[in-house]
Amino acid sequence: MTAQLLKGRDSAKQLQSELSKGFSELAADTGVQPTLAALQVGTDAAAAGYLRAIRRACQGVGTSLRPVELSEDSSQGEVQAALTELNEDGAVHGIMVLEPLPDHIDSTQLIDLLSPAKDVDGVHPLNAGRLAAQREPHFVPATPAGAMRMLEEAEVDFKGKRAVVIGRSDIVGKPMALLLLHRHCTVTIAHSRTENLPAVARMADILCVAVGRPEMVTGDWVKPGAVVVDFGTTYVDGALKGDCEQDSVAEVAGKFTPVPGGTGPMTNVMLMRNLLSAYRRLAAAPGI
Ligand code: NAP
Repeated sequence: MTAQLLKGRDSAKQLQSELSKGFSELAADTGVQPTLAALQVGTDAAAAGYLRAIRRACQGVGTSLRPVELSEDSSQGEVQAALTELNEDGAVHGIMVLEPLPDHIDSTQLIDLLSPAKDVDGVHPLNAGRLAAQREPHFVPATPAGAMRMLEEAEVDFKGKRAVVIGRSDIVGKPMALLLLHRHCTVTIAHSRTENLPAVARMADILCVAVGRPEMVTGDWVKPGAVVVDFGTTYVDGALKGDCEQDSVAEVAGKFTPVPGGTGPMTNVMLMRNLLSAYRRLAAAPGI
């Protein structure tokens, strides 16, 4: 069997054009351009790369980015003061704290301080709790939200299906597992301590991998015909690799998100969707 490849680029383009229309109608009606602030501490290459990608995403929908760059030796207090300023600034509608942060900065404290109403990546415990409790309104982390949209567009059947999510991060694995649960999958979350991981993976009708270990999952981990979602993005000798070995997995899977070009392109467009809803929610109920 050779898998149908699910390419996020097409879905992302479609969503980007819908959002561009939304942002331009908003500007025409109100004169407001929702603004995303991105807080970066230091000069980490991955954080800088992410900032470039977010800038492109903002340009793609015609809205504005406010980068706030603090020096590597900024204290926890200084970073928190900058974040508080953004929380209180009425001209800022969404805030992202770019990771990785320098070792001396406590990211948990920053996430707890972030205004839940501007938390467009859904990392604040209030938004994570709302997702877990299936309550609106909340921001769903952009990466798993984008993957779910791709699976819906590919008409994947969720109800009663066995889903295995490898990885339990707050930003990818855990919210993906919750989204699948809310669609009535029977969900297993696997992680670095899971015993006999290949056998656990092989049970999955829908296998999602968010680990960051290039080509860890091979075709013999995959149930024939399964849907495989690869979130992994690791550069190996300058080439972007997913967590799945592409050729062997595509031989066995029914549908498969390749790397590059699978889940990645959707992420930043979903972030723009969250920014637009953050603006709308703040405009409807300022001060939440
Ligand atoms: P993370 O926070 O480092 O979490 C990795 C998870 O993988 C952890 O839960 C860890 O388990 C688990 N793990 C590590 N080694 C394992 C092993 N040998 N077997 C089974 N599980 C193992 O990473 P993340 O932020 O979720 O990101 C995961 C990957 O997705 C990375 O490659 C990242 O670059 C990529 N990513 C992609 C997008 C996108 O748009 N496509 C967005 C965000 C991230 P423990 O909890 O037990 O340590």
